[in-house]
Amino acid sequence: MNSARPATPGTTRACPHCKATILDSAIICPVCRHHLRFDQRASENTNPSFPALRVEGTTRHPASGEAWEYSMLLTIRNDKGDEIARHVVGVGAMLPDEQRTFTLSVDVFTPAAPKVPGGNRPPGR
Ligand SMILES: [Zn+2]
Repeated sequence: MNSARPATPGTTRACPHCKATILDSAIICPVCRHHLRFDQRASENTNPSFPALRVEGTTRHPASGEAWEYSMLLTIRNDKGDEIARHVVGVGAMLPDEQRTFTLSVDVFTPAAPKVPGGNRPPGR
């Protein structure tokens, strides 16, 4: 009943399926990929979006030797260089001849562009 509620950018909530902390505006949970709601207004408000960054790398244990341990660390810094988030995303071990691929992706969600000529547009569009 609160369909005109203006969202505060960056507001978070817990995914009802997997309990991950996600954006309140998310329509699909990026962790468990469950649809969270079907809402035309929300759909309009979270588009357009664009992938700001995607980095992927693979490491392979050689065919012999003892198991390796790994730790995937993610940090976010603001424009002053201050660290605003630091999380260990995952840890584990690789046995001989196993490999792991690590992927980091950052998606940016922009407010809906006004439907008027000369309105805001996402960068590069
Ligand atoms: Zn989820």
